[in-house]
Amino acid sequence: MAYEVSVSPMPFVYEALPTRVTFGSGTRSALPAEIQRLGIARALILYGKSHSDVHQELKQTLGDRYAGAFDGARMHTPVDVTEAVLRKVDEQGVDGVVALGGGSTTGLAKAIALRTDLPQVILPTTYAGSEMTPILGETRDGLKTTQRSLKVLPEAVIYDVDLTMELPVGLSGVSGMNAIAHAVEALYAREANPIISALALQSVKALARALPAISADPGDRRARTDALYGAWLAGICLGSVGMALHHKLCHTLGGTFDLPHAQTHAVVLPHALAFNAPAVPQVMAQLCEALGVQRDAPGALQAINRAVGAPAGLAVLGMPREGIARAVELALDHPYWNPQPLAREGLTQLISDAYDGAEPRAYA
Ligand code: NAD
Repeated sequence: MAYEVSVSPMPFVYEALPTRVTFGSGTRSALPAEIQRLGIARALILYGKSHSDVHQELKQTLGDRYAGAFDGARMHTPVDVTEAVLRKVDEQGVDGVVALGGGSTTGLAKAIALRTDLPQVILPTTYAGSEMTPILGETRDGLKTTQRSLKVLPEAVIYDVDLTMELPVGLSGVSGMNAIAHAVEALYAREANPIISALALQSVKALARALPAISADPGDRRARTDALYGAWLAGICLGSVGMALHHKLCHTLGGTFDLPHAQTHAVVLPHALAFNAPAVPQVMAQLCEALGVQRDAPGALQAINRAVGAPAGLAVLGMPREGIARAVELALDHPYWNPQPLAREGLTQLISDAYDGAEPRAYA
């Protein structure tokens, strides 16, 4: 029998990122041990308002190692909030940060780590994936800038499925689609490599099955476990290889029209993938297999959007119709690498379809 090659002979680079991960149900009980392992004597807990009861519980378990808390993290990590928390860090002799929440709370922990190099322990409560990346987006005077630095990569992440059981159904769906977007774009990234692609396909498979199940029964623990696992893998993808059109477009749309992060990702993804499809036929075949369909991966993603009740288009999210032309100009003014070259007509179709919540079309 002829030997079948499973790895492309094309050279590739893979860089592992050093975060220690604890995964499971009830795993937040590992927090004191993680804090001790990192040598943290005075921990500051950052948390979202929906987790004040869990914050109380963590405070008890930390005992003498609890230094204080802050519950005012905001989307897009405004620098003035970071500066206020840095004063607290200084005054209270904080030597480590614990974040309990979604991407916004994690972003604040990373912004503090960037400036102080303090160790971080993250307990994610959404599927955003920020906890696995050395990437930080910050906003100063309304302008968002993004940077990469190993200083912001969390030292430890505790995924506790129990913390996601109360994530509202609507948010679970779009947050999970945000994670799928990281995995999809990793498959056709310029730095794509077989390790990350394997994780990406596993992530898509887990999330594509779990999200509709969560929508049907938010208390489905097996689906919640799969979704969090898929989100973890998607976060590794986002942190390891560069993203393309979909992420850049969502960044521009979110920043220019003040659209919500996860919802924008969910709405745009099927259309951005359809746009890129002609340039990456092999990835489309892999995605179809992971999504469990014979053909039309963008259509399968749109079907998940419908199943989880994602918003029906950017118009519903508050984007003005004249914003379509503006978004096209911004994309063409600041070109970036993408497997399919960016052209005015195709981009206009893509953003118009996302605006209307149409079915993704076939591009030539
Ligand atoms: P988020 O953290 O803003 O949370 C959205 C809302 O859900 C908030 O009101 C929050 O309080 C609530 N919430 C969170 N978890 C909950 C739970 N379990 N139960 C009930 N309510 C809950 O949203 P997000 O989508 O997780 O994160 C978005 C932010 O993260 C954006 O600023 C985005 O730019 C950033 N992000 C960064 C990276 C990165 O690598 N740097 C990656 C992904 C996202």
